[in-house]
Amino acid sequence: MNIKANNPLLKSWITIPKNSDFPIQNLPFGIFSLEDETPRVGVAIGSQIVDLKSLFELGYLEEVPFELADFDAAVLNPMMLRGKEAIRVLRNRISDLLNIENKELQGNPEEALQILVNAEDVEMHLPLYIGDYTDFYSSEQHAYNVGCLFRDPNNALLPNWKHIPVGYHGRSSSIVVSGEPIHRPKGQKRPNPEEPPVFGPSNLLDFELEMGFVTFQGKPLGNSISTSEADEYIFGMCLFNDWSARDIQGWEYVPLGPFLGKNFASHMGAWIVTLDALEPFRVPGPIQKPEVLPYLEYKGDKHIAINLEVAIQPENTTEKVVSNSNYKYMYWNMNQQLAHHSVNGCNINCGDLMASGTISGPEKHEYGSMLEISWKGSKTVQMNDGSERKFINDNDTVIMRGFAQNDTTRIGFGEVSAKVLPAK
Ligand code: CA
Repeated sequence: MNIKANNPLLKSWITIPKNSDFPIQNLPFGIFSLEDETPRVGVAIGSQIVDLKSLFELGYLEEVPFELADFDAAVLNPMMLRGKEAIRVLRNRISDLLNIENKELQGNPEEALQILVNAEDVEMHLPLYIGDYTDFYSSEQHAYNVGCLFRDPNNALLPNWKHIPVGYHGRSSSIVVSGEPIHRPKGQKRPNPEEPPVFGPSNLLDFELEMGFVTFQGKPLGNSISTSEADEYIFGMCLFNDWSARDIQGWEYVPLGPFLGKNFASHMGAWIVTLDALEPFRVPGPIQKPEVLPYLEYKGDKHIAINLEVAIQPENTTEKVVSNSNYKYMYWNMNQQLAHHSVNGCNINCGDLMASGTISGPEKHEYGSMLEISWKGSKTVQMNDGSERKFINDNDTVIMRGFAQNDTTRIGFGEVSAKVLPAK
């Protein structure tokens, strides 16, 4: 696929710091606000943000199929409702305006000053109205590790796992944006299986390293999206920390699955990188054996190589990286997840969020949760201040980062970061 804005030779007249996540080839979308101004749509470039509301008002977006209200909005949904082709036109136009060879905006410093804001000066907001949130369970190593920890290493994967991209419907109301602190959840748990359950703050609070993908408006109820159609229904991707209270989860999950151990909070990154921008980083997925049913078959490279990192920063010390994984390790790709999600006729709406499931790689340093890193609390990880972790302590900040990189271009996601405050 030849996407104009992805051209690795493009250079911007805006200074892009070395190793920036946001070169001119990226142009991710988010919602930001300056003090005393309403939230609006922005595009990240280097360490600045392009204010699309101002860009539109000053007449630079006359050729694109959008209206002012699409950018003068507190969420990306109105803009996304215009569809994939319109977003592609918009992204190409923004790319042109930021291109060093284009003088339209570059030659008008006064207007450029109105349009560009320093990322340091803004507040980022939850970028979507998320109608529905679905969490998959699509990393084989993670499913295998959990199977080993809680069941039988010889039968670690349940019989359905290689036939179905397993998932569940999560809670969208408690998805918050990077930077918002959360309180340690309280709940019912049974630390001693010989004794009755108890109530209190979770002692086994954990992160889950995930990527989310965000959908365009799907088809009406009763219709399905095939694996070959799926790309057209995916707007982009973000970093996602799907918090888990392992002790609450472990006691409550039988027989209906995740509930209060999951729905107290999930964090998403503030920037949504378009699927278009990620096309150069497609890679083949694993060979799927046993063969999948025809509706889950797919053609072409549908996996994406994205380097992922998790760090824990205790209060008053530096962060410690505890995991380096990669999105390429997924067994099931987004196309298969979306095809499976809609195969029964379930409708997908603009702004739905689908999370990958914890992304663990084959090596121990690639595990995507403390449950696996500490092997259910049997090992510790040392922080830079000498303290040890099996799970997440109060006042720890968990930071996830991600970027795709080839010889010419780095397309990053920024970070999703959140501090855990003591239970209320
Ligand atoms: Ca999860």
